[in-house]
Order: sequence, then structure tokens, then C-alpha cells
Amino acid sequence: MNFSELGLSTEILSAISRAKYESPYPIQTQSIPSLLKGKDILGLAPTGSGKTAAFILPILDRLLTKKEPEGRHIPVLILVPTRELAVQVAEVAENFSRFLPRKIKTMAVFGGVSINPQMIKLNRTEILIATPGRLIDLLGRNALSLSKVHTLVLDEADKVLNMGFREEVEHILELLPQKRQNLLFSATMDDEVRVLIDKMLQDPVKVQIEAENFSPDEIEQKAYRVSLESKGPFLRTLINSGDWKQILVFTSSIRTADNVVGKLVKNGIEAIAFHGDKSQGARTEALARFKSGKTRVLVATDLAARGIDILHLPLVINYELPRSPKDYIHRIGRTGRAGSTGEAISLITPEEMHHFKVIQKKMGKWVKLTHEEDFGKEE
Ligand code: AMP
Repeated sequence: MNFSELGLSTEILSAISRAKYESPYPIQTQSIPSLLKGKDILGLAPTGSGKTAAFILPILDRLLTKKEPEGRHIPVLILVPTRELAVQVAEVAENFSRFLPRKIKTMAVFGGVSINPQMIKLNRTEILIATPGRLIDLLGRNALSLSKVHTLVLDEADKVLNMGFREEVEHILELLPQKRQNLLFSATMDDEVRVLIDKMLQDPVKVQIEAENFSPDEIEQKAYRVSLESKGPFLRTLINSGDWKQILVFTSSIRTADNVVGKLVKNGIEAIAFHGDKSQGARTEALARFKSGKTRVLVATDLAARGIDILHLPLVINYELPRSPKDYIHRIGRTGRAGSTGEAISLITPEEMHHFKVIQKKMGKWVKLTHEEDFGKEE
């Protein structure tokens, strides 16, 4: 399949090729034609599947045919759960927009930073990417109007709800015009998400990219069998054994994440924690340090790591296994993204062995397991 078969305009196709996307990912092939026809979409897809471009490209295509908006009437609203995701979505939009005949003004707004500079910059914004809480604050100050929104995207709907934004989202829905196109993306589905789908979408086209099918074939997976006591020292040996520029380590709890960081730092390895107990500012700072290469090791919990997009991350280490196989695939999907190769290494204690088998079975792929004593002796 080629991008030119999806119905996109020549301007957008030229921007895609200048952004060096060669061929569309499955989620893009499946949703772009329907989106261009104005249909509502329900996208069940994890981060890493290419869902951002799947919705941004048709949005840019439609905006290009329209005149710039007057004043503070926003035509496209994208709701996201976190500041990190807001910034990432804006980056994808700008990455294409810079190659278009007319610059489409995109802005990301989120809490945890001062509101005034955001209010000043809102004028003539065409794509507004917002966390629900901050959007409501801005609306309360009459900084913008939603009365002309023609496209609404709710990205990572499950996470938006997990973070307790249900009332805010419902309030925002009431302020939107009746006639509009709606897109809802979610990695998982539960009753709460279903309620929102019923409220928001009309006769949607359903596009599903199974996390299991988002096959991590290009990721080299390994596992080491370690005792509980030797996990910490083994992690340090592992980190010191290669010249990976960035290493993302996953733990299953905030406490372990902090403990692991403490031990690594004590042993002279630059590391920083990334989890839900950290303030928004501390999380942004941690991610920025990691992305820029100032800190080599980021130790994160699953919740916090959802949605972080770091291209070409060479190594992911599972210090502890996640509860669900889906989360395992999501974790290792942080590496080898967009066609680049990566490594994923899991440290498995005897207690975790059974659970690791369940994960592999679900994934449909067996991972080579080496005893910790044989580390470095494998070919
Ligand atoms: P997302 O799931 O939207 O976070 O996208 C995952 C990654 O895939 C991002 O780094 C995108 O830049 C990249 N990507 C998305 N679609 C394509 C494509 N068709 N070709 C190459 N890279 C892509």
C-alpha cells in the first residue's frame, strides 16, 4: 500500500515524502480514507502504531482547503491526557505542517505552567492540543471559543479517564457544536471508555490494531534468570557491559523505581526516575535529560511511560515484569520503533518464571533465557 492510494491531496503527499515516511502503517491505511470522507472513527491502537499521523494527516488535509480562522474560534480540538503527549502530537503536526504551502498554526496547552503566555498565543490557532483541565481553565477565562470546532479527537481515552478527567471531558462535549467529526483512540477498552464512545461517536468506523499484532519482530529479545538478591548488581553489570546511549528500565512500582535509581547513582551510573509521584515539572525535566542524552538511564513505571516517544531507543530492560502481556509488548515497543532495531532484556527471578511463560505464550514468541552465570558467554 502506498500513501497516494488513500485519497490525500498532493500537498499532503508531498509533505509526507519530505517528512520521509515511505509507506503507511496499518492504522493509517485503515483510517485515513474514512476520515477523509468525514466519518467518525473508533481507533483501538497502542502508542507506537502510528496513530498520531493517522489522524493528523486528514486533519491537515481538511484545514488546507479552508481559510485561516478568525480570532479565537478553534476549528480542530485534540484532547490528550498528559503534557508529554500534547507536546508529541504538536511535534507530529508541525513536522508535516512545515512542508505545506500554508503554515497551519498548532498549539499545545497543558497545566503545571503559567496560563497567561498560553492565552496570549491562542489567536488564530487551527489545531489546539489540550489537556482537559487546562482547556477548562482557558474557557473559564474566555481565552477561546469551541463553537466552531469541526473536528474533535480524544487521544488515549482510557488514560484520560484513568486520570480522572471524565467530568471535564463531558463538560467540554457540551460546549461543542452538534455537527462535527469525532475521533476516539484508546489502547484498552472498558465500561467507562464504552460510555464515552456512546456519548461521543456517531456510527463510527472501527479500526483495531492489536497490541499482540503490533509484532516486535525487529526487536531482539533476551532474558536472564537471576536470583532476587542479584537483580540489582546484575542490572549494573548489564548496563556497564555495553555502550547503549540510552537505556529505559521498567519497574512495576514507584518504590522500586526510586530504589533502583538510588542504587545506580550510588554506583556511579547516571539515572533518573519517571513515575506518577513526580511533579509534572520533574517529569518533563527527567524526560528532557534522558532525550538529550544528559542522563543515560531512565527508570519508569508503566503508567508514566505510556505515550513517551523516543525514537531509536536502543535498549529496554524489564527489571520487573508487568502484570499484563499487553504491557510487556507496550514496554518493549519503546525500542526498535519505526523500523529501527532495538534490544529488550528481561530479568526474571524464579518466582516470575511462570508469569514470563504466560507473557511469551500470549505474544506468540519464545525468548531465549540465559542463566545469570552465563552472562557474556553467549554467542
Ligand atoms: P505514534 O503511534 O503516533 O506515537 O507513532 C509512532 C512512531 O512511528 C512515531 O515516531 C512516528 O513518527 C512514526 N511513524 C508513524 N507513521 C509512520 C510511517 N508511515 N512511516 C514511518 N514512520 C512512521
